[in-house]
Amino acid sequence: MKNNQSIGKGTRAVHAGVEPDPSTGAIMTPIFQTSTYVQEAVGVHKGWEYSRSHNPTRAALESALATLENGTHGLAFASGLAAIDTVLKTLKPGDEVISGEDLYGGTARLFRANYAPMGIVFHFVDTQQPAMVEAAINENTRLVWLESPTNPVMQITDIAAIAALTKPRGILLAVDNTFASPMLQRPIEHGADIVMHSVTKYLGGHSDVVMGALISASAEINAPLQTIQNNCGAIAQPFDSFLVLRGLKTLHLRIERHCANGRKIAHWLCEHPGVGKVYWPGLEDHPGHAIAARQMDDFGGMIGFEIATKNEEQAKAIVASTELFTLAESLGGVESLIEHPAAMTHASVSAEVRAKLGISGGFIRLSVGVEDAKDLIADLDQAFKKAGV
Ligand SMILES: *Cc1c(COP(=O)(O)O)cnc(C)c1O
Repeated sequence: MKNNQSIGKGTRAVHAGVEPDPSTGAIMTPIFQTSTYVQEAVGVHKGWEYSRSHNPTRAALESALATLENGTHGLAFASGLAAIDTVLKTLKPGDEVISGEDLYGGTARLFRANYAPMGIVFHFVDTQQPAMVEAAINENTRLVWLESPTNPVMQITDIAAIAALTKPRGILLAVDNTFASPMLQRPIEHGADIVMHSVTKYLGGHSDVVMGALISASAEINAPLQTIQNNCGAIAQPFDSFLVLRGLKTLHLRIERHCANGRKIAHWLCEHPGVGKVYWPGLEDHPGHAIAARQMDDFGGMIGFEIATKNEEQAKAIVASTELFTLAESLGGVESLIEHPAAMTHASVSAEVRAKLGISGGFIRLSVGVEDAKDLIADLDQAFKKAGV
């Protein structure tokens, strides 16, 4: 299927990247579980040589991801972090990166623990304010790294406003689009050069794969990333690629339900006397609501909230008492998950930064799944009661 913006998101989700297999007519791209490919004579082959470089199952997925994000090229990696690592490997000592300060923990760890010691200079700024990004730009700036919405307070950054700063200066703009998925936000349409996904989350969607992806806005941007993918080898495997191709076919349906359930639960939380602040970009009092309404198609199924007492023991009692919401890290699967960021996903974030972001001991994060909203609300209700909230 051609990369055509006039084709609807749902149609793209079902058809992108997948052509009937020419050798058999199989509707689904087969799992090409092969490391190498026969050559009729030296250098005479069907375009496939070795599966680190190219594999037909992975290629179908990479093409599908490019189509969904309105990019020109997609690349699939062994994990989300392997994808981020690939972008960072394009830099050299002395190059500078400006990134959001409310970052996925593993991203911040990779930047600080692995790339800062190699001489890459990082500036962590509040990207909700483009002026802060502009102030950090200098002649060594090579990359701006954004997340929007962020995890777990759902900060929203105006991608087009940042692109207006990076484009004229030739600085690469990369956006981690994991939380939104291409069904809700396509950063390339707002001027981003590279879109990154933890495919592990919404794109896979079934909590059965760890994978990452990079989608580029042009062949020039893709070329060095593809070279690093082949040189360093952190590739997605054929079976995992098949699972994600399968997951993508229902992405639009799943995201629709994640959003509908997210909306109902966010409003239920807002009405609950035991709940303090609710972080969901669809709420009109959310600081990023106006930008989110403009740059996203809907507001997703990720919700953060604080119980009114901010009491850590009560918050931990809630996350231990839900029955449908499973207590676990990760997000974006069909099943609903609940977690306590201060003690789990954000335990490695300094207490100072947590306090600045508003992640107290009374903070809880929900990854709202695709079950029936009334059952999810009843589950939260009984857990709140058990915890005395
Ligand atoms: C999970 C996640 C990552 C890392 O992806 P892995 O697949 O776990 O390596 C990066 N960014 C965000 C926003 C994530 O949620």
